[in-house]
Amino acid sequence: MTNQVNPIPVGVLGFGGLGQAAAHVLAPKQQMQLVAAADKKGYAYSPDGLDLKDAIATYQSQGSLGYIEPSGVLSEQSIEDLIGRSQNIAGFFLALPNLPNTFMASVAKQFIASGWQGVLVDAIKRTSAVEQLLDLQSELKEAGITYVTGCGATPGLLTAAAALAAQSYAEIHQVKITFGVGIGNWEAYRATIREDIGHLPGYTIAQAQSMTDADVETLLEQTNGLLTLEDMEHADDVILEMAGICGRDRVTVGGVVDTRNPKKPLSTNVKITGRTFEGKISSHTFTLGDETSMAANVCGPAFGYLKAGIQLHQQGLRGLLTSAQVMPHFVR
Ligand code: NAD
Repeated sequence: MTNQVNPIPVGVLGFGGLGQAAAHVLAPKQQMQLVAAADKKGYAYSPDGLDLKDAIATYQSQGSLGYIEPSGVLSEQSIEDLIGRSQNIAGFFLALPNLPNTFMASVAKQFIASGWQGVLVDAIKRTSAVEQLLDLQSELKEAGITYVTGCGATPGLLTAAAALAAQSYAEIHQVKITFGVGIGNWEAYRATIREDIGHLPGYTIAQAQSMTDADVETLLEQTNGLLTLEDMEHADDVILEMAGICGRDRVTVGGVVDTRNPKKPLSTNVKITGRTFEGKISSHTFTLGDETSMAANVCGPAFGYLKAGIQLHQQGLRGLLTSAQVMPHFVR
């Protein structure tokens, strides 16, 4: 007899910047094991766990996990094919681009249609994208899926921190999220950068999606590698509104992304201003350590929420939840 509990088998959809970081985050964990991952051209599934080095080396040298021997499969419909083999996978982190803005909801629909039951978490960013998932609430419930949305850094870690900080106040006046992201090279996070460009004045998400890599480079050349974002359409607002913290008009999100330097251009923080029951106006500020990367602040929470979601699913809770309604668990 041993006390060793089998790790929970989980998968990651999308194996770009965040998907690969997610695999790194899970590698030393005992409670969760990465058994499947998919990219645009294929997937790999191994019930005994994917080999981290092999997965990353194959993806980076050949462009798809489908080339991994013997667990890889090349496919133009990798998500659908992998779902078909996922009966034993407890949950997935959807580290996929939301391009077009309806993509994540379409993936949720694929899971609903498949008959698979389990837990899904995403790191989706836009308010309008979360609203599409809200429309799927009853379908997710009927399908036996627990879907926790907005589980990255913002929305995610910072939104949850705001929900916690709000407890000191009788009334919330403002939630202000300011992020600083530093990445050495934009190509490591293509979807993140394209989606951020979609928030710049004069750009739409459709325009950002249609930009070639050369177009993105030309734009970044003009801005010295910096993207400065203000008043973004970020789902922290709808998530805090749904949690009953404050109206969405009181939530603002902006920040600076430096695509040429892994050092953060500013410290990421969330400032929650409110009035206490005694009538005092005050602010709590939660600031992330400058040494923590975007990947660390997205993938850690994503798996923490996945673990919490799996426990709720085991208890029979199905449907759509947000990062402000559930406390993430810590994955050991
Ligand atoms: P990326 O461009 O580096 O990688 C995307 C991956 O998805 C690639 O492996 C690609 O092959 C795969 N993919 C694309 N279309 C697919 C399809 N149809 N089927 C299967 N796989 C497909 O992306 P990234 O920079 O890691 O970003 C992923 C998402 O995370 C983006 O939507 C981004 O906005 C979001 N994000 C959220 C936060 C947050 O704090 N909430 C922070 C950063 C990024």
